[in-house]
Amino acid sequence: MGPARLALGEPRPSGSGGLQLNPRPWTTPAPYPTINIVRILGIESSCDETAAAVVEDGETVLSSIVASQFGTHGKYGGVVPELASREHLRAIVPVVREALGRSATRLEDLAAIAATVGPGLVGSLLVGLTYAKALCFARGLPLIAVNHVEGHIHAVILEARRAGAPVEFPALALVVSGGHTHLFEVLPEFRYRLLGKTRDDAAGEAFDKVAKLLGFPYPGGPVIDRLAPHGNPRAVPFTFAKMKGNALDFSFSGLKTAVLRWVQAHDMQAEIDARRALLRERLQPSFEEWLAVTPPRTLDLLASFQHAVIAELLIRAAAAAERIDARSMIASGGVACNAGLRAAARSARLPYPVHFPSPGLSTDNAAMIAAAAFPKLERGDFAGLDAAAEASLALA
Ligand code: ADP
Ligand code: MG
Repeated sequence: MGPARLALGEPRPSGSGGLQLNPRPWTTPAPYPTINIVRILGIESSCDETAAAVVEDGETVLSSIVASQFGTHGKYGGVVPELASREHLRAIVPVVREALGRSATRLEDLAAIAATVGPGLVGSLLVGLTYAKALCFARGLPLIAVNHVEGHIHAVILEARRAGAPVEFPALALVVSGGHTHLFEVLPEFRYRLLGKTRDDAAGEAFDKVAKLLGFPYPGGPVIDRLAPHGNPRAVPFTFAKMKGNALDFSFSGLKTAVLRWVQAHDMQAEIDARRALLRERLQPSFEEWLAVTPPRTLDLLASFQHAVIAELLIRAAAAAERIDARSMIASGGVACNAGLRAAARSARLPYPVHFPSPGLSTDNAAMIAAAAFPKLERGDFAGLDAAAEASLALA
């Protein structure tokens, strides 16, 4: 269970990093029974999504706005950092305004503003963080610094709380996205212990690189996920990466190279060119259009690749869960959207509940940042206006 809720009427928590805080309604002694509700504005800009959300009490998402930059980066097959920063600058004001507007929240209704401080692209992080600081400074609000990876974990914790079936600790968290493939032990009061991580590519990065190699759009995960059920997952026998040292570490670069070798050995240039042409000609080809330019042999390749990624993720996650005697498993991050991964986790009949966030909370969003900030607010864990963006900020 989370830490105790801050009671109304208590003095404002200290440790606000030098910020002069205005008295907020939720800290004043209440003459009548008061609605004990706090609203946090979350801001996320660590990679290629500008997002803002208002979350009440760490569990009720009043609004969640995400502006994606797929259109900007799609043709490059990956995120271009300079373009990402520029797009964040364009989006940050309207996205925050929209999140406040849709939740009918005024800045004076907020208890705090939370922003992602890392890990991520520094130029991208700075846009959201600096905007959050400016709002805090102007309105005398406390700033809460959130680790993006902790945000992904809280996407699940938020929904489980909301559903009235909170995540039980110790939990095993598999955070799997375009930038991260990590296993954490999650202990009460949101303490974390790193159990394993990728030694090379992240799982989402492997999806994106394989997609690019085969002429599919960025991000690669969603399109491969849709196409994989049309192929045979046992057609191409990819071998499982054996790890020296920590057996809970992942590796995906060998798999990516195996796909490359397979492509080189199978004369696929014509179909790859056909897909690249489709990408140039149409703004957003439909799934049926992608299926039409993907022969059965390539569908088998995609199904086998996805099957290998899922096996790598689930086998190591289950081993980690067993090691810590986990009472639940959390899977989060963009790759946790994968339908094949969700189905495999269900059919594995693991002896503890496995929690996946709803798809909108799996990929980058700001509701998870506001949710992760809630226990920090209760603890009075505030950041100063000198909080720095950190590209490779570790969670544990
Ligand atoms: P970040 O990597 O910045 O933390 P996200 O959490 O938004 O970003 O995750 C994006 C990654 O998730 C991309 O690599 C994308 O290919 C991958 N992804 C998204 N949906 C799926 C899916 N259905 N199957 C597999 N991978 C997916
Ligand atoms: Mg992410």
